[in-house]
Amino acid sequence: MGIRLGCIADDFTGATDLANNLVRAGMRVVQLIDVPPPGAERPVDADAVVIALKSRTVPAADAVDASLRALAWLRSAGAEQIYFKYCSTFDSTPAGNIGPVTEALMDALGTDFTIATPAFPDNGRTVFKGHLFVGDVLLSESGMRHHPLTPMTDPNLVSVLGAQTTRAVGLIDHTVVGHDATAVRARIDELRAQGAGIAIADAVSNDDLVRLGAAVQGMPLVTAGSGLAIGLPANWGFTPSRAAAQLPAPGGHRAVISGSVSAATNQQVQEFLRTGRPAFSVDPLRVATGEDVSGQALAFAEAHLADGPVLLYSTEAPEAVRTVQTRLGGAEAGELVERTLARVAEGLVRRGVRQLVVAGGETSGAVVRALGITGLRIGPQIDPGVPWCAAALPGGDTLHITLKSGNFGGPAFFTDSFALLDREVS
Ligand code: ADP
Repeated sequence: MGIRLGCIADDFTGATDLANNLVRAGMRVVQLIDVPPPGAERPVDADAVVIALKSRTVPAADAVDASLRALAWLRSAGAEQIYFKYCSTFDSTPAGNIGPVTEALMDALGTDFTIATPAFPDNGRTVFKGHLFVGDVLLSESGMRHHPLTPMTDPNLVSVLGAQTTRAVGLIDHTVVGHDATAVRARIDELRAQGAGIAIADAVSNDDLVRLGAAVQGMPLVTAGSGLAIGLPANWGFTPSRAAAQLPAPGGHRAVISGSVSAATNQQVQEFLRTGRPAFSVDPLRVATGEDVSGQALAFAEAHLADGPVLLYSTEAPEAVRTVQTRLGGAEAGELVERTLARVAEGLVRRGVRQLVVAGGETSGAVVRALGITGLRIGPQIDPGVPWCAAALPGGDTLHITLKSGNFGGPAFFTDSFALLDREVS
C-alpha cells in the first residue's frame, strides 16, 4: 500500500503534532525534515508522510516555493490527498502565508475548491460562525493579539483569509457541519456555484471534525490545523490501532539532552536530580572561556551510560539564564549552547546511545541537524503531542528519539519516557 495522505506543515512542532494525530487515528506516519533534495529520494513505507517546513513567517514567495517543492515530492511519492497544515491560531498576516500557499497548491493541483479550519477542540481551538475561539475567548482577545510576528486582531476567519487570497472565501457554518457529511457536501456545491474557492469550516467538537473529514473524502487539497487529522484516516478504512505506532525494538544506551530553559523542563531536570540519577551540567560560561565542556560531558556520560539514562543539561532557572545572556549576549549564548549540546549528541551516539530524549525546540533542531537525521517514523505518544520516534542514522543504525517542546511533559518525563518505550515497543 502506498502513501495515502501527503502533508505539508508550516513548522516543525506543528508537523509532529499532525503526525501524532494521524498515528492515533490509525495511520503509519513518517515525518520528513524539509523536502528531500533531488537524487536523495528514498521510498517511504507509510500511510501518510508529513513534510516539516519552516514557512510560517518567511516571506510569502519563499513559503509558496517551499510548499510547491513539498507538493511535487508528495505527488511523486503517490499521495492521493494533500493536507496543508498551519497553526491552530491561524498565525498569518494580510501578506500570508496561509492564503498564498493555499492558492498556489490549488493552482498546482488544478482544483477549484478547498476548505480551511484551524479547529482543534481537544486543545481549546473551536470555530463557530467562522470565528475562532482560543479557550473561552475570541482569537482577537487571546494572547495572539500581541504576537510579535503574526498579531491576530480579527477573529473572523472568513475576512482574515479573504484578505490574503484572490479567490472568494465562504463559510460552512455549524448548522451544516453539525448535521452530516451529506449536508456539508451540499453546502460545498452551493458555495462553488456562488463562485467561492475556499470555505472556512466551523467545528466545535471532535464529532464535527469527523463529519467534516468524511465530507472532504476525495478532495485533492484540504487545509487545516492538526485537528482535521482525526477525521481523515477513516476515509481509507483506517481505525485506531497500536500497530500504527509500532517502532523497531530499541537498543543501546539511554541519554537525555536538555537545552530548554522553560519552566516545565526546569521542573523535569530538578526531578531527575532529586532521584539521584547521573547528570552533568553544561555551563555556558565555562564553554565561553574555551574549556572543553562537551569533552567533559562525554567523559562523564561514558562512565555512567551503563546505568543510564544519563542527563546532560544546560537548563537553568530564569535568573541564571539572564546572567549568562548579560555576559555573553542572548543570541550568542543560545548558539554557543546549541553547538555544544549538538556536539554532545554526536558523541553520545558514537558511544552507543540509541535512545535519546531531547528537550527544547531549538535544541532539538540543532541535535537533529548534527546527527544527520532527515526523517522520523512516529511511534507511541508519551504525553499529549510528544511521541517517540525512530530515525535512521547516516550509518544505518536506528536511533529512538523524542523531541520535547519546552513546556510539554509531566515532571517525571525524563524517566517516564523510557518506561513507556519499554512497555509499548520492546
Ligand atoms: P525552550 O524554548 O523550551 O527554552 P529551546 O531549545 O527552544 O527550548 O530554546 C532554549 C534556548 O536557550 C536555546 O537557544 C538554548 O541554546 C539556550 N540556552 C539553554 N541553556 C541556556 C543557559 N543556561 N543560558 C543561556 N542560554 C541557554
